[in-house]
Amino acid sequence: MIEIWWARLSTQRVAPDWIADFDAAERERLAAYKRQEDQDRFLLGCTIVRRLLASRSQLPAASIRLDRRCDDCGRPHGKVRAEGAELSITHSGDLVGVAFHPSIPIGLDVELVNPAVDALALARVSLAPAETDDLVRRPPADRAAAFTTYWTRKEAVVKATAEGIRADLTKLVVTPPDQPAAVAVWPDHPDPIQLVDVDSAPNHKAALAALTAAPIEVSLRDAAELL
Ligand SMILES: [Zn+2]
Repeated sequence: MIEIWWARLSTQRVAPDWIADFDAAERERLAAYKRQEDQDRFLLGCTIVRRLLASRSQLPAASIRLDRRCDDCGRPHGKVRAEGAELSITHSGDLVGVAFHPSIPIGLDVELVNPAVDALALARVSLAPAETDDLVRRPPADRAAAFTTYWTRKEAVVKATAEGIRADLTKLVVTPPDQPAAVAVWPDHPDPIQLVDVDSAPNHKAALAALTAAPIEVSLRDAAELL
């Protein structure tokens, strides 16, 4: 069972004393965020991860060691790693989400649908040609939501493989938004990947990918239980 813990910024109280559990790298990164809502998202994401792992290991949240080293440059802004846990953190709009499984690599992505976005312009740099063709065939009013579904499905996949922004998203083809989520074509990536859409919040899209051959089960949880 893969757990996804959602917190909503609009209703969740963010407590400054959560910082007491943070390590030096987290404090530094928190201080670098200029906007209050970015600080709140980071505070929430770190605190959910720490408390989730603390509750499973019976250790204090402050003693949980998180490794955020970037595979490219070594700075602490990479995928979060912890012993005995596979994690993926995402935030957009009103939501902060943390996915957890003890051993299966996972990727979670949520995005607020922005109706003002130029979906076709974004599609040319981030979607595969077949996906862009599908978008062009849709009514203009539907394109922002359809693009966002494509984007979250693809982001979830490259977060699960830890390729992130290094991946060429124009080569990864996922199923169209009105079909069940799945990887359709991804050359040179023969390993099995499960992909599902995830319930999130109104006007948001979310997807989860897992590097496993077996169908996955997802348990949606309210992060308020941890906070
Ligand atoms: Zn880096």
